[in-house]
Amino acid sequence: MTREDPVLEAARLLRGRTDAVALTGAGISVESGIPAFRGSQGLWGKYDPMEYATLGAFLRSPEKVWRMLSEMVALCGDAAPNAAHRGLADLEGRGILRAVITQNVDGLHQAAGTRNVIEYHGNMEALVCISCWRRYPTRERWVDGQAPACDCGEILKPDVVLFGEPIPWLAQERAEEEARTCGVLLVIGTSAEVSPACDIPRIAKKAGAVVVEINPEETDLTRTVVSLHIPGSASEVMGQLIIMLRDPGDDFPPHLKSFNIP
Ligand code: NAD
Ligand code: ZN
Repeated sequence: MTREDPVLEAARLLRGRTDAVALTGAGISVESGIPAFRGSQGLWGKYDPMEYATLGAFLRSPEKVWRMLSEMVALCGDAAPNAAHRGLADLEGRGILRAVITQNVDGLHQAAGTRNVIEYHGNMEALVCISCWRRYPTRERWVDGQAPACDCGEILKPDVVLFGEPIPWLAQERAEEEARTCGVLLVIGTSAEVSPACDIPRIAKKAGAVVVEINPEETDLTRTVVSLHIPGSASEVMGQLIIMLRDPGDDFPPHLKSFNIP
């Protein structure tokens, strides 16, 4: 027996719902020009995370860590949302999707129009002083090639969660509550290797949600908590899904299935 088109299965699952939640990772922004950390194009190929992305490394040598952070600020500043970010905003606008929990720090969900975004690892938009706690918009202080400084003289840290830092408590509480109470969890573009974000799909599954994974690759989740794996790129799959959800019937014309929403 051949299996039904998984995107059509996902469309059937989502139609009429009001309790879907999405968990997104670096993969959803790859088609916006921001490479994932893992993989051949990833920043980790160039910068060892234990040397460049821990709080300890930042405290020891902030100028060095800013070499990696500077690339991230520039990449995020140049990026625009893609069809996957816009698709999630569309699902929220139609009352199907309740929240987006994102591990990303690029602000692209908000740029796409999603209102309820839970930023699990913070955001690149703000800088914070680890001495006097003063905050600044990144665009006010950041100059490419330099480590930005506070008026007190200390080097500023971006308001993102480095390895070794706790998850902001409100984001963690809200994310776990969404996971415990959603009916469908869409897991998009995450390797699910970063803890504790990787617990969110497990919490959702344990509470009875159907977990749908959109990722060209299989992950540790695929064979453990995922009920439906859609092996494709985030923008292509979300583009197809949105068209199918707009279509009143299930007899969706096959020639349109590769259509990617602009
Ligand atoms: P990851 O780098 O560990 O994994 C990325 C996943 O995305 C992989 O499983 C890969 O198969 C998949 N993927 C690649 N291209 C895709 C596409 N076009 N569509 C769908 N999936 C695709 O990412 P992670 O799990 O999010 O963990 C990395 C951590 O680094 C996160 O915590 C995040 O905070 C941070 N990060 C953020 C950004 C960003 O803000 N855009 C970018 C890189 C890393
Ligand atoms: Zn300061």
